[in-house]
Amino acid sequence: MDNVMEEIMKIVGSKEILGLCLVLISMFVLSVQPVFSAGLTPAMKTAVDWVDGSRAVYDEIARYIWENPELSLVEFKSSAKLQDYLTRNGFRIEKGVAGMSTAFVATWGSGKPVIGIMGEFDALPSLSQESGNTSQKPIIPGAPGHGCGHNLFGTSSATAAIAAAKAMEKHGIKGTVKFFGTPAEETLVGKIFMNRDGVFDGTDIMIAWHPGEFNGVSYLTIWPSTTSNFVSTESRRMRGRLPRRDEAPSTRCSS
Ligand SMILES: [Zn+2]
Repeated sequence: MDNVMEEIMKIVGSKEILGLCLVLISMFVLSVQPVFSAGLTPAMKTAVDWVDGSRAVYDEIARYIWENPELSLVEFKSSAKLQDYLTRNGFRIEKGVAGMSTAFVATWGSGKPVIGIMGEFDALPSLSQESGNTSQKPIIPGAPGHGCGHNLFGTSSATAAIAAAKAMEKHGIKGTVKFFGTPAEETLVGKIFMNRDGVFDGTDIMIAWHPGEFNGVSYLTIWPSTTSNFVSTESRRMRGRLPRRDEAPSTRCSS
């Protein structure tokens, strides 16, 4: 873990930003773990407090996306919901990037470092399911559903991006936060097209997460497979070697 932090520190070059990144990573598991408040800087505490105080808002968004499951590349309601959330919190939206109507980039701030956070929101076919029910119970038999937790993925990532921006604004921390609304993860094309068109270029660090059966942090497997052959020279250095944008993507599935 220490080596991970050293590598991230070299790239980001700011202890304050690094701290915020760590808080963001922690936020991704807030729903299942208490927040560790000891040792947080004032900026980190601002971010955590914002998340704690906004629960009703992001709960509603996650539920909305769950109740409106949309398949890859037609996630119109889900994408619009997240765009609205980010816009209401001061982010500038670029819609329809990389030729996909539901792909977008939401940006706050300016200059370096540029912190990227990915959020997915597409559903899977035939997994319609009542929320809160551990037995199979479709709302509409045969309809799509969020079997992969992407209703949480997009919502939590957008929440983390906003919380970081709130903290940076309040504490005068320079830099840019970019939320990448990445559609069509389940069909493995969304981030591939975004990467092909250079949407991720200029990002200093990219943070992503995914619902799973354990909590952990890694910097070696950032959604590489299905997603992108990212991004910056620094990222390539971190992974040892990453494919270039013009090379064929890996086909290993991590979704
Ligand atoms: Zn997934």
